[in-house]
Amino acid sequence: MQISVKTDNRTQMIDITSQVRQAIDESGIKDGLVHIYSMHTTAAITINENADPTVEIDMLKTINKVIPFDDHFKHMEGNSAAHIKVSLFGPSELIPLEKGSMVLGTWQGIFFCEFDGPRTRRVNVKIIPD
Ligand code: ZN
Repeated sequence: MQISVKTDNRTQMIDITSQVRQAIDESGIKDGLVHIYSMHTTAAITINENADPTVEIDMLKTINKVIPFDDHFKHMEGNSAAHIKVSLFGPSELIPLEKGSMVLGTWQGIFFCEFDGPRTRRVNVKIIPD
């Protein structure tokens, strides 16, 4: 199934943990693996702290400093920075599912990472029963 994510900024991290939980609940599957996959070349998925929103601010500040938007890139579309960030973060995460709940640590959440927004994006959630 797919989750739609609307982003508001050029770079942004959006906590999609509750939408993924909803997809799991709708599937009725209780045990297996949950694969969360960004269907884009300029948006990634990552797992990180979702308790303190300043973590997202610091992460975006750092990734935008390490990979600036304009660094005399050759790609004509002008969004090479976003492509590079996606390959560093990765397009997907795989999370164990036990007794109907994702095995996440206390502070862990699933983030959709927009690197070339704002746009409306699609995330594929595949629940693999075991
Ligand atoms: Zn491009």
